[in-house]
Amino acid sequence: MSKTKVSNIVVVGGGTAGWISAALLTKILGNQVKITLIESDKIGIIGVGEATIPPMINFNNALGINENDFLKATKATIKLGIQFENWNEPDSKYMHAFGGVGKNFPFCDFHHFWLNSKKMGLESNFWDFSVNYLAAMQGKFGKMPTLEGTNIPGITYAYHFDAGLYAKFLREHCESQGVKRIEGIVEHVALDENTGNVQTLTLDSQEVIKGDLFIDCSGMRGLLIEQALNTGYEDWSHWLPCDRAMAMPTTSTTPIKPYTRSIAHEAGWQWQIPLQHRTGNGIVYSSRHLDDESAKKILMENVEGTSLAEPKLIKFKTGRRRKQWHKNVVAIGLSSGFLEPLESTSIHLIQTAVVRLVKHFPHNGIKQAEVDEFNRQSKDEVEKIRDFIILHYKLNQRNDSDFWRECQRMEIPETLMQKMALFKSSGKVFRDYEDLFTEIAWQQVMIGQGLIPDDVHPLSNQLSKEQLADLFDNLKVIIQRSVDKLPTHEEFLHNISSQ
Ligand SMILES: Cc1cc2nc3c(=O)[nH]c(=O)nc-3n(C[C@H](O)[C@H](O)[C@H](O)COP(=O)(O)OP(=O)(O)OC[C@H]3O[C@@H](n4cnc5c(N)ncnc54)[C@H](O)[C@@H]3O)c2cc1C
Repeated sequence: MSKTKVSNIVVVGGGTAGWISAALLTKILGNQVKITLIESDKIGIIGVGEATIPPMINFNNALGINENDFLKATKATIKLGIQFENWNEPDSKYMHAFGGVGKNFPFCDFHHFWLNSKKMGLESNFWDFSVNYLAAMQGKFGKMPTLEGTNIPGITYAYHFDAGLYAKFLREHCESQGVKRIEGIVEHVALDENTGNVQTLTLDSQEVIKGDLFIDCSGMRGLLIEQALNTGYEDWSHWLPCDRAMAMPTTSTTPIKPYTRSIAHEAGWQWQIPLQHRTGNGIVYSSRHLDDESAKKILMENVEGTSLAEPKLIKFKTGRRRKQWHKNVVAIGLSSGFLEPLESTSIHLIQTAVVRLVKHFPHNGIKQAEVDEFNRQSKDEVEKIRDFIILHYKLNQRNDSDFWRECQRMEIPETLMQKMALFKSSGKVFRDYEDLFTEIAWQQVMIGQGLIPDDVHPLSNQLSKEQLADLFDNLKVIIQRSVDKLPTHEEFLHNISSQ
């Protein structure tokens, strides 16, 4: 495809995607490659994207980022999960908590025992066996790899952070590692007549930038992957009908919650992301069902704290770029597609894309087979996340608007249909290859939204009602004792900032 050795990488865009890509490429490939990043302060970044998921911790470690420095610089807080509110009947709540629930037995997950206990007449809440849930509800956080005195996994966490401060933090990190930043607007993209590859970029200053491999991190516009290469877009809005968001920061309210809130409204949902210095808020909605003024009104009426800026409207189309790698352009971040932020997965997808690129890095020239494999893996990964997000909409139990009723009736991907049918009939759910979400994540959302299995694993019958009651009492004591030992979330943040 191209025999040119790849030693000159050009990243277009300095949002979260651009700087994360530059950071990992420079860390891993070091001085084998030269990395230039072009961004424009005049254009700016999208400025949302403030909730993350636990794999980010490993990613930051891989970059050599000190956690305390990161928490301080980005005004970050801790995220223990997402609380979904009003997705079922009014005032209903459940949490997709990170980490485990209960204690798994060989060959049989905990939820089978819990479901069986309900059949036997024992009353308990599934989430009473989640240390993350209890810590979240009690406003506690501390590092705890295992529950006290046991080998049961302890707290699993992620972060909420300020997107603007995060881009600044990564920029400083990258520049200190040798990444060259150019301020400028790409005005012209020149393609090679024979190969169709991107050859040069011309900036508003008339400077011409050459590269062997271009990373398109230009955001939803897809400057290289779409505007220059016409790669095409697969539209998923028939499954995920929300196409707009309105974001608005407010002053902080205390105590600062260690979890994200996702609150369903008549035609979409609202997020609340608590940071150290403010709260990020926004509403995600379907413009077919709700006009912008009404969305703004719902958002303004349902925030805590006072607004710090006017709501900012963001339009999007859910879906994926048909090829994430095309010719000598790799699209990372919003340029590669968009899944709404219900499960905070976009930044994670940036991280896995750049890790994948390092694994497939075309040192000795771009080979079609490698590009195809990269694209296959990218597609598989995002489709599994897509299914998990659709699950929330499909299972809603709201009856108050056309939006929610349409979501209940909509056709869903075959892959998701099979997963739901298996769970409903047997209580079983298996993590697919390439699936970000573990079995316990699927169990929590399915149970939380009322998909209760008709049957359970027969191995769960090995414990009698009395034995189950004992097990549950013991687990509750162990978990609560562990939570009692934790500092409050605010104490944890205070300790970080005073270090
Ligand atoms: C409403 C909403 C909420 C979200 N919430 C979350 C969340 O909670 N968690 C999560 O993980 N993700 C979330 N995301 C996704 C997240 O915001 C993005 O994945 C992330 O910010 C990466 O954006 P980006 O870097 O691809 O694009 P952008 O931030 O848009 O950056 C694009 C960059 O390209 C540059 N650029 C563009 N055109 C040119 C040009 N011609 N010349 C030079 N430079 C150019 C810009 O200057 C900018 O630096 C959310 C997204 C939306 C829309």
